[in-house]
Amino acid sequence: LVSSSVDEDGDEQVIEAALRPKKLDDFIGQHRVREQLSLVLHSAVRRGRPPDHVLLSGGPGLGKTTLAMIIAAELGRPLRISSGPAIERAGDLAAVLSTLSEGEVLFLDEIHRMARPAEEMLYMAMEDFRVDVVVGKGPGATAIPLDIAPFTLVGATTRAGMLPGPLRDRFGFVAHMDFYEPAELEVIVHRSARLLNVRIEDGGATEVAGRSRGTPRIANRLLRRVRDFAEVRADGVVTRELARAALTLYEVDERGLDRLDRAVLGSLMRKFGGGPVGLSTLAVSVGEEPETVEVVAEPFLVRQGLLARTPRGRIATPAAWRHMGLTPPPAAPM
Ligand code: ADP
Repeated sequence: LVSSSVDEDGDEQVIEAALRPKKLDDFIGQHRVREQLSLVLHSAVRRGRPPDHVLLSGGPGLGKTTLAMIIAAELGRPLRISSGPAIERAGDLAAVLSTLSEGEVLFLDEIHRMARPAEEMLYMAMEDFRVDVVVGKGPGATAIPLDIAPFTLVGATTRAGMLPGPLRDRFGFVAHMDFYEPAELEVIVHRSARLLNVRIEDGGATEVAGRSRGTPRIANRLLRRVRDFAEVRADGVVTRELARAALTLYEVDERGLDRLDRAVLGSLMRKFGGGPVGLSTLAVSVGEEPETVEVVAEPFLVRQGLLARTPRGRIATPAAWRHMGLTPPPAAPM
């Protein structure tokens, strides 16, 4: 349990760790993924072999890291955590792989950002539990084969489409994690509130869940902001009215759009007449990296029917103009 005193902004990771479900049964939502994964894990345990490699794809904050931890826990094996960007050379990967213990679970976050040579080493490791370590340079270079302990790779990516086919094909189980339903987020909010000792009414939880962009990490974050507000401005109990007032203060609107979402839509409408406009141009206009706009803002806006991707670029839908309270120019497409 976490007392609210640890909950400074910089401690999000500490809080997240405390709020992470530890067992598959406590993982809320994603029913299909959970059931499929449960079968994969149980049959592996019965056969006494490491399960197939698992690829988890889905946006940030949907529970990929949490699932990797759960997989290791359910298998009763240690978990090693690394990420694509941390592996710059094949040697970095060899160092990790060669020190894995039998059956260990290796979590590689953002696996689509791994360096190419390392990727090729990973193919062989996944398939044959063997790597070729190249020593020396030029014509004198020699590949020394090295056996590694059988392990299970859990790869996570926010962009499944960016994974090279040969890598994707080497995962025996590929799960796509989708946005959560409001009812599931409500359960998550109630659970987190209990762990953080926050008193919250059903209406308060509904309000937080409904504005969480289908994402547990955001639900937990908004819950803490609402909790702060309740402690300072009221008696600590999160009611519906209080949640509404707090979230309005933090610029999260009724549909859950935050500053970035509104900036993207606002810019698309005000600067580009509603589009079509290319992703990079749009990203520059709101001062963000294209990947941030594409991975963080867009999937939610598309799902909400506020933004559409067309071959000619991004366009704002009529619903978006209405939501932002703006009038489309007469010649606007759509
Ligand atoms: P990702 O790795 O996909 O970015 P995380 O696994 O780090 O996401 O999850 C972010 C936070 O959301 C964690 O603190 C975790 O407690 C919470 N969370 C994610 N999925 C669930 C879930 N299904 N049930 C309860 N909490 C969840």
